[in-house]
Amino acid sequence: MVIDGPMFIDGEWVKAEQTFEVINPATGVVIGSVADGNQTHATQAVEAAHKAFASWSRTTAHSRSAILYRAWQLMLDNKSELAALMTREQGKPLKAAANEVQYAADFLLWFAEEAKRTYGETIPSARPDQRFIVQHQPVGVVAAITPWNYPISMLTRKLAPALAAGCTVVVKPAESTPLCAIEVFKLLQEAGVPAGVINLITASDPAPIGKVFCEHPAVRKLTFTGSTAVGKKLSQDAAVGLKRVSMELGGHAPFIVYKDADPVHAAKGASLVKFLNTGQACICPNRIFVHKNILTEFVETLTSRIKKMRVGNGAEEGVAIGPLVDEKAIVKIENQVNDAQDKGADILCGGERLTGDTFADGFFFSPTVLTGVDDSMLIYREETFGPVAPVIPFDDNDDIIAMANDTHYGLAAYVYTKDLSTALRSVEQLNFGIIGVNDINPTSAAAPFGGMNESGLGREGAREGLLEYMETKLAGFSI
Ligand code: ADP
Repeated sequence: MVIDGPMFIDGEWVKAEQTFEVINPATGVVIGSVADGNQTHATQAVEAAHKAFASWSRTTAHSRSAILYRAWQLMLDNKSELAALMTREQGKPLKAAANEVQYAADFLLWFAEEAKRTYGETIPSARPDQRFIVQHQPVGVVAAITPWNYPISMLTRKLAPALAAGCTVVVKPAESTPLCAIEVFKLLQEAGVPAGVINLITASDPAPIGKVFCEHPAVRKLTFTGSTAVGKKLSQDAAVGLKRVSMELGGHAPFIVYKDADPVHAAKGASLVKFLNTGQACICPNRIFVHKNILTEFVETLTSRIKKMRVGNGAEEGVAIGPLVDEKAIVKIENQVNDAQDKGADILCGGERLTGDTFADGFFFSPTVLTGVDDSMLIYREETFGPVAPVIPFDDNDDIIAMANDTHYGLAAYVYTKDLSTALRSVEQLNFGIIGVNDINPTSAAAPFGGMNESGLGREGAREGLLEYMETKLAGFSI
């Protein structure tokens, strides 16, 4: 069955003259036909959000919180349906999709709670007749552009704090995963979000919609998750109207296994976080640095675990690794693997596209371990966004922190060590926004997520995630 996908503007489900198709990346089958929105739709949505801001921003934090609680409950009630749709549309295995829906719901709950805690402060003045009061107010209309790799949680990570703050929002989801976004909007509507407060524009060509978001004077904040190249372009365009931006961009995570670490434990961690979402997460390790004393044991464990991972359609029982998003992703990975091999890396498993039988119409690449990777190779610099684990040996003479920091990205980093000083020194010296110490999942709705350098600006989730959507206003009184 092909799902018919409308947009949501000013409280109405709206069709467009044109539509575009959404396919299942595991099978190539068309699963949806979605409204292809244009600049007129985007402008209508921004104007509806602008109009709705006047009343929504004046509702109490408690009433906004109550709506977010209802949305949280509805998302949990619909977890298995949402997960099944996500698997069909995005490809990740059902269990991973259900975990993502849970993570998405966590943001609704967290910001339902935080909505009520946007405390201001009073500040003593040097003048006896003066009083300072600081309060936080919503920034205004927010434009949000979201990616396909986490199609539900990346929506709630932006929508929940924006709504909690009292902002109104226009969302443009990725063109390969609009169906998940439509379902989230249905839940939010059912939870009681008033007309105009949230708006959804789906489009096959994102650039003209992004242009409206960057140029329309009513938009006061742009929040984006996606590639560094697009993030930079949008930041430049948004700067013309001096709009606030939050940018959650690419990564090139180092995964450092020091010589005192347990190589088996570290390899288990690496196999899980590297192949998360078929390697399509911005926090996936892209350079696995392993001390040469424990290299053999680490690589053996990693390879044997990876060989056991079943690749296939995420809807099938027992599949651990689903398809990639599209053909372009496969070509990029093939290019990196071939380049590494030409320059001397060894392929211990995988290394090629999977074809034939059940793989014939999807985008599958076999989980790959490369050893002997060095800084002359593309994979040492370029984000892979696929199921390839490049292992780079190091020894006591190498400055491993400098090697790990040798990238323009700065999102996640991982450190395995039993030594407290090594761990603390690494945390302090690594130029990354998120650091896992003997831990592969340092993410949570309660914890600030975001990158340094060209991995982005701002933080999502946590207390910080709410302040991204609020102005700080100072009132000075003379009494
Ligand atoms: P990826 O390479 O991971 O697909 P992109 O940065 O291309 O990342 O996509 C992330 C989001 O940015 C998607 O919603 C996509 O539609 C959107 N996008 C891509 N190019 C533009 C653009 N020029 N203007 C606005 N949005 C864009």
